[in-house]
Amino acid sequence: MAALISIRGLKKAFGRFMVLHGIDLDIAEGEVVCVIGPSGSGKSTLIRCINHLEGFEKESSVTVDGVRVEQGAALAKVRAEVGMVFQSFNLFPHMTVLRNVMLAPMRVRGTPPAEAKRKALDLLARVGISEQADKFPSQLSGGQQQRVAIARALAMEPKVLLFDEPTSALDPEMVGEVLDAMRKLAGTGVTMIVVTHEMGFARQVADRVIFMDGGRIVEAGTPSDIFDSPREERTRGFLRAVL
Ligand code: ADP
Ligand code: MG
Repeated sequence: MAALISIRGLKKAFGRFMVLHGIDLDIAEGEVVCVIGPSGSGKSTLIRCINHLEGFEKESSVTVDGVRVEQGAALAKVRAEVGMVFQSFNLFPHMTVLRNVMLAPMRVRGTPPAEAKRKALDLLARVGISEQADKFPSQLSGGQQQRVAIARALAMEPKVLLFDEPTSALDPEMVGEVLDAMRKLAGTGVTMIVVTHEMGFARQVADRVIFMDGGRIVEAGTPSDIFDSPREERTRGFLRAVL
């Protein structure tokens, strides 16, 4: 099967500092990939290159559903197919939860309001917060806000969802509810790339786990490959420190 996301020789530098040293990675449709690794290893930069939130070196290539990610018209097409959930929820504070979820389909796709509303309510139900629809983000807990952010990303019916440490800013008691929503989502066939420090989630939910260090993919495999029998010393060292 052709890859939904294809990354070839991805290089990225900030000034003279090389952050990604030529990443090659294919992700199949429906695959759930967890990216783990120490702070500063390039995990965020890698996923931000997929929708060109970060530019990258010219000789690199990133394609999403056959469309090359670069500036210009193609980028709008890619961005419409790639949803992103950040550590900070980035909801619009002056809009209700419902409006937050309705906005992009109406603005970007021209979805009629009644249909956008019906869909938004469906999505809020899927992440377990229908009853919060008319509240403002500031009236919600962090875990609820993050679930709204997930519903908002899903509203565009993306082919792939990127998560950058979606639970890192949450109080511990709220991590579980967000991971549960993500686990449910993973069961629906959405392609997901999740940067996370939640090793339990990676082990349970990922089809493939990627360990990054120093701007390279050091090792990749099934959760059992990575967590039970890592081959690389750097992977073993990281897991010893976090598990
Ligand atoms: P991770 O998500 O694995 O913690 P990042 O992708 O955020 O790592 O960062 C990788 C490296 O790139 C780090 O050394 C970081 O300091 C550097 N970096 C990230 N963003 C920038 C930026 N905008 N300008 C300069 N350096 C950056
Ligand atoms: Mg990061």
